[in-house]
Amino acid sequence: MSKPLIELKNVSFQYENTHALNNISFKVDEGDFLAIIGPNGSGKSTLLKLILGLEKPTAGEIKLFGLASNQFRDRELIGYVSQKSNAFNSAFPATVEEVVKSGLVKKLGFFKQIPKDASKKAEEVLKAVGLENLAKRNIGQLSGGQQQRVFIARALIAEPKVLILDEPTVGIDHENVQSFYDMLARLNREQNQTIILVTHDVDTVSNRISHVACLNQTIHFHGYKEEFDTISQDQIDALYGHAVRK
Ligand code: ADP
Ligand code: MG
Repeated sequence: MSKPLIELKNVSFQYENTHALNNISFKVDEGDFLAIIGPNGSGKSTLLKLILGLEKPTAGEIKLFGLASNQFRDRELIGYVSQKSNAFNSAFPATVEEVVKSGLVKKLGFFKQIPKDASKKAEEVLKAVGLENLAKRNIGQLSGGQQQRVFIARALIAEPKVLILDEPTVGIDHENVQSFYDMLARLNREQNQTIILVTHDVDTVSNRISHVACLNQTIHFHGYKEEFDTISQDQIDALYGHAVRK
């Protein structure tokens, strides 16, 4: 058995005035496609920040690739697309390709040159997110959904083992949400890309994922998608405080 890529054991987190997360334990294995669902303020973004090392747990332990979080150095193994990062307007002076290549900067360090094959890699990841024809376009001319795909390509060019996405479909219209999730499912299936997705679109995403975690300060459910499907609608709605399933 290979080690889990990410493992949380009894993790809690407290902001100054808010107890955001309580006793969270779960694992993510290579090839998993985990959806984390939960109402607003339930601690989803905080949980991702802990995994990314942007905040430290108040209690408990996080292991990344088998290492304690504070001994883990290869941060580029974890790609991250933050909530509301699709913020370029039409005046932003960069092409799609340039934005994607900027994803290599963190990996290479400030003074290293972008490698010669960067354009080829940019082309590959743009193809993977379905934007192969838009490399030379100005990023500001793209729709919100397309920009979100560019950010995913920007994360993918650094070849992360785990791709973490925080509510990537906010602001994308319903029709395009389907094809957005199809694109993620293809990455997961064809490239064995491990994905952690924070989302509200439980129904839309559910036949593409392998695992579900329901979060509301603590984990109310974590398991295979098939198991999740057996939970009653009432239980899910109670967790959210409103109806989330059809
Ligand atoms: P979600 O992403 O599920 O909407 P968050 O993780 O952003 O939830 O927030 C969880 C809780 O922590 C909320 O009560 C929120 O108000 C609080 N919180 C989030 N960020 C901060 C912060 N920087 N300082 C203090 N409290 C915060
Ligand atoms: Mg959030």
